[in-house]
Amino acid sequence: MIESTHRPSQVVVDLSAIEYNVKQELARLNDEQVLFAVVKANAYGHGAVKVAQAAEKAGAKGLCVSNLDEALELREAGITLPILVLSYVSPNYTNLAISQSISLTAPSLEWLKEVEESLAANPMMNPLSVHLKIDTGMGRIGLRDEDEMVQAKELFVLSNHMTLDGIFTHFSCADTKDTSYFELQQQRFTRAMDIFSDLEIPYIHTSNSATALWHDAWNSNLIRFGDALYGLNPSGKALDLPYELKPALSLTTELIHVKQVSTGEKIGYGATYTAEKEEWIGTLPIGYADGLIRKFQGYKVIIDGEYAEIVGRVCMDQCMIRLPKRYDVGTPVTIFGKNGTLENTLDDAAEFIGTINYEIVCGLTDRLPRIYE
Ligand code: PLP
Repeated sequence: MIESTHRPSQVVVDLSAIEYNVKQELARLNDEQVLFAVVKANAYGHGAVKVAQAAEKAGAKGLCVSNLDEALELREAGITLPILVLSYVSPNYTNLAISQSISLTAPSLEWLKEVEESLAANPMMNPLSVHLKIDTGMGRIGLRDEDEMVQAKELFVLSNHMTLDGIFTHFSCADTKDTSYFELQQQRFTRAMDIFSDLEIPYIHTSNSATALWHDAWNSNLIRFGDALYGLNPSGKALDLPYELKPALSLTTELIHVKQVSTGEKIGYGATYTAEKEEWIGTLPIGYADGLIRKFQGYKVIIDGEYAEIVGRVCMDQCMIRLPKRYDVGTPVTIFGKNGTLENTLDDAAEFIGTINYEIVCGLTDRLPRIYE
């Protein structure tokens, strides 16, 4: 998708907020714990390379991504920090991972066997760095069966082609008031760790942002810091943050067209909005192809420190707002972020469309330029 730089709609990312959030978490960690910035999905829409650089500057000791291409993007940009791919990578690409010093996640015993076999047939200079995933209840990837864990351990002990650099799990309910399922996952991870207790494994990790924030980074000397890195609350509004985070992302645009319509005039596809009186209507150059999905009809953006409702259906590339008064074309508009004394938080926006802050930021498409300040 081509970035639309000749249009006044953009994602604005405050890199000092990223640095601040990293430092806030680092202040709570001990000397044995390191923070890896989770920059998958183009750093949750914020821009992977810039965020990775800011996180490194603030003290992050590594990066997590979701797939090999995301890791290669960082290497191509000259980033030398350790990188862990959190999701499945085909055994066909292990040589590429080794050559780029990228650690992979072992999602199953079969995967480990296949990788061992292919590296034995075609040995590389260096071994593959592996973090073994234990599925304690997320039900996504990872070993669940204790016999398989024993076999995996034996395989690592004998292998010259792979090193076991980490064991980890992922909690599905670290961001809720009810901690019962979290506790069940903790028990399962503790049992799994008993199997590996006689091995020296550099990294044991269970902590996403929520586990770091509300469970003291339980059993983790590596913190996989994602949502909170961006200044967002992983629980939405369910749990209070234990320390201040600064949201890094704003979405801004400006008026490209302004008109007065008379009572009874309709706006947008399907003619779903009717002006109740003489109204000033502004048009914004942003729509669902940018990630501002149709569910945002009725959401209030901010212009000149005042709210203005999105009226009529959001179009692919444009949407219309009811202005508090006449404004000139070119007047700035804030969709997410601060404007005057008002702020549209990503949690307000998420609540409005019935989702989570993660989905909104990840949904902002590549058509929107990312501007860094
Ligand atoms: N670890 C794993 C395995 C993940 O899949 C994710 C994100 O989904 C994270 C860590 C980061 O989670 P969060 O953004 O909630 O910090």
